[in-house]
Amino acid sequence: MSSFRQRALDEFATHKAARFFVEERPVSEFFAQNVFGQEQMKKYLSQQAFEAVTAAIREGKKIDRSIADEVASGMKSWAVEMGATHYTHLFHPLTDSTAEKHESFIDRSKTGEVVENFKGEALVQQEPDASSFPNGGMRSTFEARGYTAWDPSSPAFILDQTLCIPTIFVSYTGEALDMKIPHLKSLEAINKAALNVLELFQNDVASVKVNLGIEQEYFIVDDALYRARPDLQICNRTLIGHTAAKDQQLEDHYFGAIPSRVTCFMKDFETEAYKLGIMLKTRHNEVAPNQFECAPLFCEANLTIDHNLLLMILMKKVAKKHRLKVIFHEKPFMGVNGSGKHCNWSMMTDKGENLLSPGTTPSTNLQFLSIFVSVIKAIYEHHYLMMASVASLNNYYRLGGNEAPPAVMSVFIGSTLDRILDSIENMTSPANEAKAKKERLDIVRLIPEILQDNTDRNRTSPFAFTGNRFEFRAVGSSVNAASSMYILNSIVAQQLNAFRSRVDKYIYEGTEKDEAVMKVIREYIIESKPIRFEGNGYSKEWQQEARKRGLKGIVNVPEAYKAFIDKKTIALFEEVGVLSKREIEAHYEIKNEIYTKKLQIEARVMGDLIINHIIPTAIKFQNSLIENARGIKELFSPEEADIMCEKQIRTIRKISRYINELREDVHDMIAARKEANVITDFTEKAALYTETVLPYMEKIRTNADKLEMIVDDELWPLPKYRELLFCR
Ligand code: ADP
Ligand code: MG
Repeated sequence: MSSFRQRALDEFATHKAARFFVEERPVSEFFAQNVFGQEQMKKYLSQQAFEAVTAAIREGKKIDRSIADEVASGMKSWAVEMGATHYTHLFHPLTDSTAEKHESFIDRSKTGEVVENFKGEALVQQEPDASSFPNGGMRSTFEARGYTAWDPSSPAFILDQTLCIPTIFVSYTGEALDMKIPHLKSLEAINKAALNVLELFQNDVASVKVNLGIEQEYFIVDDALYRARPDLQICNRTLIGHTAAKDQQLEDHYFGAIPSRVTCFMKDFETEAYKLGIMLKTRHNEVAPNQFECAPLFCEANLTIDHNLLLMILMKKVAKKHRLKVIFHEKPFMGVNGSGKHCNWSMMTDKGENLLSPGTTPSTNLQFLSIFVSVIKAIYEHHYLMMASVASLNNYYRLGGNEAPPAVMSVFIGSTLDRILDSIENMTSPANEAKAKKERLDIVRLIPEILQDNTDRNRTSPFAFTGNRFEFRAVGSSVNAASSMYILNSIVAQQLNAFRSRVDKYIYEGTEKDEAVMKVIREYIIESKPIRFEGNGYSKEWQQEARKRGLKGIVNVPEAYKAFIDKKTIALFEEVGVLSKREIEAHYEIKNEIYTKKLQIEARVMGDLIINHIIPTAIKFQNSLIENARGIKELFSPEEADIMCEKQIRTIRKISRYINELREDVHDMIAARKEANVITDFTEKAALYTETVLPYMEKIRTNADKLEMIVDDELWPLPKYRELLFCR
């Protein structure tokens, strides 16, 4: 066998379950031990400093510099006692990853000795030499500075002997260079807007928070096999590779017994996650072979995002120990399911009331309905933007396939609520207004009873109501989910504000409050009706139906990105105070650039695979066929030899044809790239890459995969799907 692949398989065979430290204490005893949380703060901070940080967490209050010094000193004492030597500001640049720059605590004392030191300044702000982070033109070189600033609402923690401080990343002129800033601002927008609506129903709510629970899907591949695949290594997905004879068609992997080597890995990273305060709750096999999922208990959205990104770092780190590779790519393998991050989203008051749970009285149900229809209306108004928020090269390969949500937005609410909304819509008899009013209130009173047996589930809907929360399933598995969540928060905030204004208008005109609310609920139901869809979101009929309803689907990625600079979008973000026009334009530019660069890299790796791995292998195999035919001709009469070699010669021809086509396509693809590369306008460049380079990826793959089915298995250089997906 090809020495490369053989070596990888041999190495795999020696990979036994890693020996790892098994934590025997109950989780509650070591949970969050590496986090500078409440308990640690109480121990290491003065009462005053403790209260200042708590107020910053609860109410977003600013922390005084002198207090910051004290907090820094307390944090340092704790961290050094825990064995930390360094500290870092951890931020989320606009690349879907996290960034960090480590500094050690050591300093020279006045008398020249080495001491550990950590000042308030270093805690509060850092100026990373970060001119190479994407900034979409927001930092011209003369103001190339950006700085990170402490986010006290997400607690500091220790990882690898380093004190990690969650921060925002902002340009010298104050523009957001990260995903955390718009996300935090959108959470504030939700808070204000929800309070605005809640005032109609109750008046002792002080704040509203967003709760978020993220289900994270991922693939596991043996590390040795992974290293024998340049495409996996560089692009995190297989660019070529014929599907295995069996993958997920028997549906025997989902919720099946987790392979023991993977269980060891899971236990190990779960333990590390617990120590960092991440409440991992669920683990199971996913639909595709070697695909899995984990999910923590939901918590406040900003923390959930930080935890999710931290979890990804942890999983990658721990996997190394187990000689495994975690793949977060949205579509690493053709023909089997891709991976997502299902974002479970709801809103909660400071009293612990979930605003998406129907209540028990007509008035609490009116409140529920107001919030509920506002979310639906928000999705309707910005359905294309919501879908565009998940658009990326990776997700392009995933959306539309198998279990994945399709690239057109719809909202599923379950048949019970669907009926309730329909009946509210239909309840209008101007002839008998009093009767209609009574009926409406009857319906509202009945909601909790009707809802009790509501166990509907629709996994083909990108945005589904699941009893007390919405689940957005289209978000890609590799991204920072804040990139979609700040948009969701913004559109809902906008719609809640609009809801309140309309109710106020009716009240002003003399309508009694409950009736005014009911009126607006009904209007929202009617106006947003086209977005509601209870059927199969993967069906062809739905694609047609969606078009009829005026719902715009995603055609290609750069086209979708244009939604960001649409007038309506810019107005939205300015209205809710989440992003300025300049920031949106910068984000837009960065999105396009990342897309184009990724595609460029994929195309390069594809060229390398075909020219340097696949074609030479095919030629080797073809030579063995030629040699064999020649031998037959030597031994047998020409007539006999002709009959014997007929099929063989056909195969030799076929291989030549594939090789020629592959060479030609790679050549043309390179030419297309060259042509696109000279274009300076980033929108045009992304569009041209999509139009002229992207189609080659599939075309080339098809021929390479055909060769895989012809060429002697012994010679094939790359680990095959059956190995990648079933070696565990
Ligand atoms: P599924 O059945 O959809 O796979 P999981 O149990 O895997 O569900 O994950 C559901 C996620 O939703 C978890 O993170 C859970 O904590 C979260 N969740 C549950 N209730 C809420 C809520 N009210 N708001 C936000 N997230 C929630
Ligand atoms: Mg799940």
